[in-house]
Amino acid sequence: MMSEMNFSRILILSPHVDDGEFGCGGTIAKLVEQGKEIFHAAFSLAEESVPSDFPKNALEIEVKKAAKVLGLKEENLFLYKYKVRELDSFRQDILEDLVKLKKELNPDLIFMPSPNDLHQDHYTVSREGLRAFKENTILGYELPWNNITFNTLAFIILNREHIKKKQEAIKCFESQSHRYYVNEDFVRAWGMTRGVQIGSEFAETFEVLRWIMR
Ligand SMILES: [Zn+2]
Repeated sequence: MMSEMNFSRILILSPHVDDGEFGCGGTIAKLVEQGKEIFHAAFSLAEESVPSDFPKNALEIEVKKAAKVLGLKEENLFLYKYKVRELDSFRQDILEDLVKLKKELNPDLIFMPSPNDLHQDHYTVSREGLRAFKENTILGYELPWNNITFNTLAFIILNREHIKKKQEAIKCFESQSHRYYVNEDFVRAWGMTRGVQIGSEFAETFEVLRWIMR
């Protein structure tokens, strides 16, 4: 029998729209398959850093496409327009947004960047997320290009289909295709590496930031 995770309302926090897809895109695909309610909140559409041959709102269009690929409902997307690289200047506003999301959505599992993430925006969302969701189970997702250290403490087993959906979702971010980690082979090999650690074909790994058993 396939074992299911004992959570029903899951909230993904992304500093920039594509972070959730990278950090836990395979897991999102798996949870959707299990019929869980999934919400995705992203705090910056990075309009200032979209390449000039794309429309300013490219990332907004792309994140909606990626959500569709993963099976997320568009009404479950919460997009905020904080300025990229400046989230820290708005940390109190972001904290208040998070508290509001907590009240409105009542999630029982949160995914967010690891506190060991070097990007200032990622670190801000992680720190404020820990504050807002201190009574919730929280897993920190991995973004290897931003982590000097990352404790592979929790794993979610994935199959080939989940990885395929993750690759497809990442492909939707055409405005980011110049980044060296936007690479299908890398995404597959990364999933395989995490799978090998636990004797399965594919997986994603997480830091346990808080674990509450009910
Ligand atoms: Zn990011």
